[in-house]
Amino acid sequence: MARFSFGEEEEEENEMESRANNKRKGQSPTEGGNQNKSQKSAGDAEQLRSGIEDKMGGISVTIDPDALDCFICCEPLRPPLYQCVNGHVACRACSIKLPQNKCPNCSQAIDFTRCRFLEKIIESIKSPCCYSEHGCNKTLSYPEIFSHQETCVHAPCFCPIPKCTFSGTPEKISTHFRSHHESSAIDFQYGKQFKASLAKSEPYIVLPSENGLLFLLLNDKHDKGNNLSVACIRPGGSTGSDFVYELMVSNAESSLQLKASAINVRKWEGVYPSKVFLLVPQNFCSSYVDIVLNVCIKSG
Ligand SMILES: [Zn+2]
Ligand SMILES: [Zn+2]
Ligand SMILES: [Zn+2]
Ligand SMILES: [Zn+2]
Repeated sequence: MARFSFGEEEEEENEMESRANNKRKGQSPTEGGNQNKSQKSAGDAEQLRSGIEDKMGGISVTIDPDALDCFICCEPLRPPLYQCVNGHVACRACSIKLPQNKCPNCSQAIDFTRCRFLEKIIESIKSPCCYSEHGCNKTLSYPEIFSHQETCVHAPCFCPIPKCTFSGTPEKISTHFRSHHESSAIDFQYGKQFKASLAKSEPYIVLPSENGLLFLLLNDKHDKGNNLSVACIRPGGSTGSDFVYELMVSNAESSLQLKASAINVRKWEGVYPSKVFLLVPQNFCSSYVDIVLNVCIKSG
């Protein structure tokens, strides 16, 4: 590597000379006339080392997360890992599914071999949860980082009202909502049926619960009618909610009913559940403008 600092070169030359002199005198570099300087260098190195070592005794580095993704499934690499002769690395689950054992990157028809070196690196990566400031004290291995952060119960939630940027715990969101946007909500008690009315074009209405959580009655309007469902504003991932809801919409002749688990959302961004909802056909309700329905939300 080119060096442009003559001072540094001179110092290096002097040091080499000094080392050579010490060697000639039968002294190690830490002995004799150069002792102070060598001690200082060792001290500097130690200081530098402790400067880059973090609290967990490792070295803090920045890694582009894409660099550690499996090139087949594009998810973070999970050991055991396998590589082709050209070094393309994939997780085991992906490599055994490849048709005719061909690497999709280089089309080499070869067997994948174990890549223990990268496994060792992946397994050594540890990171605190990115929500540590919000109270999460988990230290995560590399493959766990992303799945944990999606479901971390300490992740902050966001106020559902458009253009409001307030964020915090579900309880803080609820308190904030009651003091700032209360007029646009229907309060309810768990296990008790209540009537809700929403315009067919309204994307959602907010339902504050008695214990300080906010629920959303979601309304996905489309050509054939409206898909209705319920979400709870809290972290924890979209599955495994312990709130069950029932929706019932009636007209003079018949009624439509749905019983399902409320999904969890930290921040509602206009995405509706694609699997479970109550479809209310366009001409089902007597009103052209509103949908009136009975709602009941039960705490599991
Ligand atoms: Zn994969
Ligand atoms: Zn390859
Ligand atoms: Zn966490
Ligand atoms: Zn707000």
